[in-house]
Amino acid sequence: MHKKELEYLEKYKKEVMSLCKCKGRDMTCSCYQKYFNLVKKIRAGIPLQFVNWNLNNLDNPQARGTVKEVEEYIEFLKDNYERGKGLYIHGIIGNGKTTLASIVLNYAIDLGYSGSFMTLDQCMNLLRGREEGTVVSEVKLEIEDIWVDFLVIDELNNKYNLKPTASVRSTLEELLRSRSNRLLPTIITSNSTKAILRSDFGDKIESLVSAYCREIKTKVEFDVREGINREKKEEK
Ligand SMILES: [Zn+2]
Repeated sequence: MHKKELEYLEKYKKEVMSLCKCKGRDMTCSCYQKYFNLVKKIRAGIPLQFVNWNLNNLDNPQARGTVKEVEEYIEFLKDNYERGKGLYIHGIIGNGKTTLASIVLNYAIDLGYSGSFMTLDQCMNLLRGREEGTVVSEVKLEIEDIWVDFLVIDELNNKYNLKPTASVRSTLEELLRSRSNRLLPTIITSNSTKAILRSDFGDKIESLVSAYCREIKTKVEFDVREGINREKKEEK
């Protein structure tokens, strides 16, 4: 664990556990359970700023517009887990997709499920090593972080407006297929609509996402980029 993460845990011990009625001495107390869950969340790779967030203390006004849809998913988390149903959370940059995905994983870990949180890049590095162009034709069972109950893949986007390479697409497809075959839910965040996902990542990935992930579009009042597109069209 990183120094910052250890400091976070120490702070929790000092500020919450020592003030608990058990004074941090009773390992069966709920303050300990919360501490152990925090450790799991940090180990799962949930961004430190979100490990303590839930739908009630959500402190991101941008994300608040989408709480209801996420709440519905969490309410039936066990059901969704059994059916292997994940989420495809998409919307423009800065409206809380990562926050919402973190919150779902926080709930899952609190309920005793295992979880991992990684960006698409981290995921690809884990599967392919650092060799560019490597195609993964089978997701090895030894890669434990991939076989968790709930996997978050954050930022399933084009990078710098470059389309993903064929090797990224086939590796991602293999991953999504392997997980969905085992009914393991995958939670994806993206700034692409499903139509853009199809054109960037291909039909197969889009159809896997459509079959196994419930779509949640984060609510925004005005999509700046659509506005720009509209102006361009009018010029023509
Ligand atoms: Zn306690």
